Amino acid sequence: MHELSIIRSIIDIALRHAEGRRVTAVEVGVGRWSNIEPSCLDFYFQGMIAETSLEGASLRILEVPLRAECAECETQFEPEDMVFYCPACGSRLTEVISGKELRVKAIEVAYED
Ligand SMILES: [Zn+2]
Repeated sequence: MHELSIIRSIIDIALRHAEGRRVTAVEVGVGRWSNIEPSCLDFYFQGMIAETSLEGASLRILEVPLRAECAECETQFEPEDMVFYCPACGSRLTEVISGKELRVKAIEVAYED
């Protein structure tokens, strides 16, 4: 039920920013390593937006690749695996800088005359 609480907060954020306008799309960035199943997100999203000003909105999911930075030489790279070394100096002192997050990036609202 991890996805359910995530969807609830995505909807809260979108509603807050929409300020009563009708929302047509919500764009979220989902890290490749966030442990979130994108198809689950869409399913819950569609189920929970009925009778809100988000009704009919689509959920756009952008996959954010995993990026890490070496703590020793500051090289940034995209590891293929969860166990990785710096490709420049071989150090294991690396830090994940993106790819684990989930973030609302944009909402699209309808402007009605
Ligand atoms: Zn390095």
